[in-house]
Amino acid sequence: MGYEELRDLLPKSDIAFNEPMSRHTSFRIGGPADVFVVPGSLDELKTLLKWCHQRSVRLLAVGRGTNLLVRDGGFRGVIVQIGASFQDFEIIGSDGVRADAGWILSELCVRCASLGLSGLEFACGIPGSLGGAIYMNAGAYGGQMSDVVTGVVVLNRQGEEEYWGAEKLDFSYRHSALQDRDYIAIAADLRLRKASPEIIFRQIQELTKARKEKQPLNEPSAGSIFKRPPGHFAGKLIEQAGFKGRRVGDAQVSTKHAGFIVNLGHATASDVIKLIGEIQRGVYEKTGVLLEPEIKVIGEEHKEG
Ligand SMILES: Cc1cc2nc3c(=O)[nH]c(=O)nc-3n(C[C@H](O)[C@H](O)[C@H](O)COP(=O)(O)OP(=O)(O)OC[C@H]3O[C@@H](n4cnc5c(N)ncnc54)[C@H](O)[C@@H]3O)c2cc1C
Repeated sequence: MGYEELRDLLPKSDIAFNEPMSRHTSFRIGGPADVFVVPGSLDELKTLLKWCHQRSVRLLAVGRGTNLLVRDGGFRGVIVQIGASFQDFEIIGSDGVRADAGWILSELCVRCASLGLSGLEFACGIPGSLGGAIYMNAGAYGGQMSDVVTGVVVLNRQGEEEYWGAEKLDFSYRHSALQDRDYIAIAADLRLRKASPEIIFRQIQELTKARKEKQPLNEPSAGSIFKRPPGHFAGKLIEQAGFKGRRVGDAQVSTKHAGFIVNLGHATASDVIKLIGEIQRGVYEKTGVLLEPEIKVIGEEHKEG
């Protein structure tokens, strides 16, 4: 494919070839990406996008890999992580901020709290990047990203910048327009509210405690496997259908929260996918509800030999 050309375009330290995605996902699962790039600057990202576009090379942007299941055969093409080099932050007016997409959401939440800016507390325990959270319209405890995001700076496949306002982002439950179009989020404008840092931090503390009590945070996972079906809770349906603790290989329905699948050590993507199928069939037979995965599954199946 001529990926070696990238060595002349980008700093060596930013590129890895045949990189196991298990190193870059919270599930600790996933075959190798042909190329994994962590661009050191926006210019580098634009150069990479143009290079891929001109050669029709597949490119996928990821954040912290906390909602991602990469199949065991890996990913043919380039995976680009919007990470540490995308962490600029600017206060706009009295209650707005512009933050780069590489911010870790929980750290951004703390930064805003210390500035007396309220509104992101719901997100303090959602792992992953700001970009990933916008892509997913991530949410918890009654809040979601669409409550605070007023616009996003995106790049198209030729590396050109555009600005999408809230309308164009077309947010709905765990959905944004980024899922329908091939764009990369690089920064976002958030509208927050002035409040006392003390009150904001108290709220963060309470939500963190609630999360620790209910979720298996010490085991590798990708959070809730399924979307919340209207009128139900996925975890409850899974538990009622008798799947709590069910295993396929080292993939297990968490014994703490049946909405999570955890990796007990050596789970493969194929174990997780098999378990997802079993749960979907079992819950459907018992309740008539078809659970839809929330996690994003990418890559190729592993081929023997
Ligand atoms: C323990 C645990 C708890 C969780 N709790 C919650 C929760 O309460 N609520 C919730 O909503 N989620 C939750 N999640 C899921 C996950 O953390 C969120 O979906 C998070 O927002 C994903 O961010 P990320 O950076 O890890 O995205 P990734 O997993 O890296 O990517 C997710 C998707 O977004 C795309 N993407 C990522 N960054 C960009 C970008 N800059 N531009 C364009 N596309 C991009 C990727 O291509 C992929 O399709 C949890 C996960 C874990 C492991």
